[in-house]
Amino acid sequence: MSKIASTKKLYQQDVYLKECAAAVLWAEEDLVVLDRTVFFPTGGGQSCDIGTISGQQVTEVFEQDDLVYHRMAGAASFTPWQEVRCCIDWERRFDNMQRHCGEHILSGICYRLFGGINRGFHMGQEYMTIDISLEEDPSIREITWEMAKQAELCTNEVIWSNAPVTVRRFETRQEAEQLPLRKALAIDEEISIVCVGDVENAADCVACCGTHPSTAGQVGLVKLYKVEHYKGMFRIYFEAGKRALLDYGRKHELIAALGNRFSAGPDDLMDKIKAREEKTKAVKNELHVLRQSVLNARREEIREDLLSMQGYTSPDKYPVLVYEYDDMKTDDLLNIGRPLIKEIVKLLIICSSSDNTALLFSNGTVDCGRLVKENASIYNGKGGGNATSARAIFPKRDGLDTFIDLIKKHLR
Ligand SMILES: [Zn+2]
Repeated sequence: MSKIASTKKLYQQDVYLKECAAAVLWAEEDLVVLDRTVFFPTGGGQSCDIGTISGQQVTEVFEQDDLVYHRMAGAASFTPWQEVRCCIDWERRFDNMQRHCGEHILSGICYRLFGGINRGFHMGQEYMTIDISLEEDPSIREITWEMAKQAELCTNEVIWSNAPVTVRRFETRQEAEQLPLRKALAIDEEISIVCVGDVENAADCVACCGTHPSTAGQVGLVKLYKVEHYKGMFRIYFEAGKRALLDYGRKHELIAALGNRFSAGPDDLMDKIKAREEKTKAVKNELHVLRQSVLNARREEIREDLLSMQGYTSPDKYPVLVYEYDDMKTDDLLNIGRPLIKEIVKLLIICSSSDNTALLFSNGTVDCGRLVKENASIYNGKGGGNATSARAIFPKRDGLDTFIDLIKKHLR
């Protein structure tokens, strides 16, 4: 394309302008450049505006060589000097302005209170983060949660004061550096300096090309969530504006629902939860004791059967003992069978009908592991073990039954 001077950036003159008429300078494929625009392009940590140009959706906006490019389907149908109408998604823009300005104030307060330099900023869907590096004041080596709460209060006090937010534009670095900047300048010309509050005593004063509300009060609210160590810095998680309010709403509803569940208010909710936990623990202990007594009783029944077989003249005549329970897991079966191993002459099988599982126990005269290995797979079973104990698990009940029948025949 031939060189066009620049796009007039109306969002720099009036951040509250939601619409404008503009002329097409250049259009090709899915990109269009206008002589003026209300669309803020991605930059300075702030995402771009979206909206419509003459009713067609704009999905991305970026700046290059002083021109603002709008990405949209159907851009190629525009012709040079065609008149178009730009409309931005104001809700998204104002959301960006609230969050972005909230981040300014919090960063400025961290600088004023702790000498912390903002070295990183992330605006996510769930929350924002800033990474604060403590460099200015050697006596401050960490940001505790108490300190973070102090910064949160100071940030909101700036918001409540409804301090003016101003943007000053400077041609040169020397002019801009006359202001009490929180961060060294990274550019040399055409510098925008944003100040929250009076320049002499600004809550924040820093170079920024983003969009900001005209007063701090429009940020509404800044809420901090947590602070954590991050690569030698301190990462603060927070939210601002309408998003902070919506988050408060969600958390309030959660607390209210928990309160209903536990018949408690916010003040005694934790006590009620703790009491419930202790009750659950006591019930679990009681259940454990009862379960042990059931296991012991069942083991004794089997032991009696084993003892009654001692009258048999030859161990070859010993039957394979099979027991089945529908209320026992594999661990319970092991608990029953293992202590009996030395008393078993031939083979003991204990089954869990709920798991289609059979545990085999023997004193070693019969190799349990080999029985499982050689026979279980015939009925789609899996498992294994050693000479004195092994397990076999079957996908279906009849697999378990036929496996046991086979073992009994095998050892007859
Ligand atoms: Zn900014």
